[in-house]
Amino acid sequence: MARGLLGIEDLSRPEIEALLERARQFQPQPDQNYPRLESLRGRMIVNLFFEASTRTRTSFEIAARRLGAESVSITAAGSSVSKGESLVDTLNTLVAMRPSAIVMRHGASGAPHFLSRYLTTPIVNAGDGTHEHPTQALLDARTILDRRPSLEGLRVAIIGDIAHSRVARSNVHLLSKFGADIVLCGPASLLPVELKELAPGVHLTTDIREALKDADVIMMLRVQLERQHEAAFPASEYFRFYGLRLEHLDLARPDAIVMHPGPINRGRELSSEVADFQRSVILNQVENGIAVRMAVLEKVIG
Ligand code: ASP
Repeated sequence: MARGLLGIEDLSRPEIEALLERARQFQPQPDQNYPRLESLRGRMIVNLFFEASTRTRTSFEIAARRLGAESVSITAAGSSVSKGESLVDTLNTLVAMRPSAIVMRHGASGAPHFLSRYLTTPIVNAGDGTHEHPTQALLDARTILDRRPSLEGLRVAIIGDIAHSRVARSNVHLLSKFGADIVLCGPASLLPVELKELAPGVHLTTDIREALKDADVIMMLRVQLERQHEAAFPASEYFRFYGLRLEHLDLARPDAIVMHPGPINRGRELSSEVADFQRSVILNQVENGIAVRMAVLEKVIG
């Protein structure tokens, strides 16, 4: 792996497999906690978040601590960015404090890629605009592989606001490298046709029933209202046409799992019954986030 982790697109299949296997080794037994290791003792990780985050930031902080590293978190609201400092100047300032890595989330697609050309400190992309969210795709793959022997040939339906979703893009890159059959589904205005070209094995449909047919994995996405600058979004109609409800699950395979990267909006992307359904693995995804981020930090810094 090159310095840092910028996206799934640049990773080879063996690199992804190695990270997923390492994450598996970090997973705790059901009655235990994550291991407390010392492999990154004395290292300092800076989490720099220019966009809101609950899961990702906390998970990176816990992963760093579990490896014996220290971490500090900075959010845009409390940083000099709000005083007009440029992104490059903010990053150079942080690098002068000698962190071992910078974990970064930014609203502009490509921001971490741009910065990585100028910095020697490794950058881990924790989500850049609508582009990539690599650790999300890795934890999603880990969660699927906890329940299935392989990703090969699985039918994965990704449903919702595809246009604005970095989660969808990273998952398409990862799943296609492993030969999954991917269906992207959403209203036409949120389903750019060019996404079909993103990777082999990608199909598009605006019909949720078609997307769900024989699906092994159902991945629901949040409607990213913060990225929609056009006319008002018809939220109640959206649930009627694209919200996942219990009766929909009959179309999928009997053992299909329901995923969501969070934050979930009950009654918008999925019904409360589906969110709490026994085959919903949303909290398993959160749990796997720590193991996957431990594997990534160890690889990038270790
Ligand atoms: N948490 C994910 C992200 O940051 C998904 C979302 O916000 O809807 O992309």
